Amino acid sequence: MTSNWAESFNNTTKDARGFPITAAVAFLRSKVQKWFASRKEKADKWTKPLAPEMEEDLALHFEKGRYLNVDSCGPYTLQVHPGGTVMTGGVVDLQEHTCTCGLFQCMKFPCPHACAASQERSISAYTLCSPYYTTEYWRRHMKEQLCQLVTRMIGNCLMTSRT
Ligand SMILES: [Zn+2]
Repeated sequence: MTSNWAESFNNTTKDARGFPITAAVAFLRSKVQKWFASRKEKADKWTKPLAPEMEEDLALHFEKGRYLNVDSCGPYTLQVHPGGTVMTGGVVDLQEHTCTCGLFQCMKFPCPHACAASQERSISAYTLCSPYYTTEYWRRHMKEQLCQLVTRMIGNCLMTSRT
């Protein structure tokens, strides 16, 4: 297992470096096609509103916010504080999508305080997430990545064959 995408790619493609250019391109195209087919299959089967990693994060934030106390300060402003836990509290504004912990506005994703506040107000936490975290965006971005990657790979392969 490698620590980043570039190392993983280099490991996978090292066998193709000695190939003639046409064989190297065919090898790389085949590898990438398999990777993206696997990812596309996962994305096509995914039925939840957010991409898998973000669904996990949201579930985790809900779990962390589950035992927090929520006090109303206004229609959209709530003070969320720990009831004997080690977590710190926060003041959440559900209209402005902010929390005094800073995570909500920074990540454009509800922090545990915002999750607790949204539950208190019966507001879906999905409406508090950036559209960039949605499954729809994930699928669209995957297609764009594929086009860019294939273009770069062919370019790199052509450059390597000249040296
Ligand atoms: Zn917060």
